[in-house]
Amino acid sequence: MSTIEQNLQAVRDSIAQAAADAQRAPADVTLLAVSKTFGADAVLAAMRAGQAAFGENYLQEALDKIAFVKEAAPQHVPAWHFIGPIQSNKTRPIAEHFDWVHTVEREKIAVRLSEQRPAGLPDLNICLQVNISGEASKSGVTPADLPALARAVAQLPRLRLRGLMAIPEPETDVNLQRAAFAQLRVLYQQLKADGLALDTLSMGMSADLRAAVLEGATIVRVGSAIFGSRNYSH
Ligand SMILES: *Cc1c(COP(=O)(O)O)cnc(C)c1O
Repeated sequence: MSTIEQNLQAVRDSIAQAAADAQRAPADVTLLAVSKTFGADAVLAAMRAGQAAFGENYLQEALDKIAFVKEAAPQHVPAWHFIGPIQSNKTRPIAEHFDWVHTVEREKIAVRLSEQRPAGLPDLNICLQVNISGEASKSGVTPADLPALARAVAQLPRLRLRGLMAIPEPETDVNLQRAAFAQLRVLYQQLKADGLALDTLSMGMSADLRAAVLEGATIVRVGSAIFGSRNYSH
């Protein structure tokens, strides 16, 4: 077995264990492999080990990788999720090349993605990024502004609002990790109670995926536990 294959198996086992402890079905948690800074060879190795969804943060790097993987494995096109900060002048390639976007925090960005999503493609799946750590994080819509943003995005053609995403401040205590994820779950449940048809809570990374699954994550975004530690120098 390759290292990536072994790591993937270990992550799948952790998800299954956390799901079992929460009396949830492991199949209700999708593993998103975050391949940022790693090459297409790493993506292809993970695909050979059965991984079907990949997350990318940096647009140009992602576009190159998506094209390479499509060429190398045309019969197994994975789902590509954009999980990085979005510049408003870079929305078009995101609308054209991705299946999901997890980091929508402003209506203006959603409107551009809606206008630029090619008509021949399925609706672009959207999660709204929520700032649940307050001052500590600059990214994400505030909980106070979330309901209005969610209602606006839910109306837009060619987008499908799926749910919420957050990147809480790093905590080592599992109870503090859980408390942050529980905040996102409560916001999600409130939007659903208000009538929005949501099904996705994108939360949990390598260091806190157990807490996220215990609190109801339906997508965990895992990079280093699968691909190893990242090197940003090139
Ligand atoms: C890099 C990144 C991840 C993965 O982080 P790891 O700690 O390597 O698992 C998940 N989500 C987002 C938004 C990221 O930028």
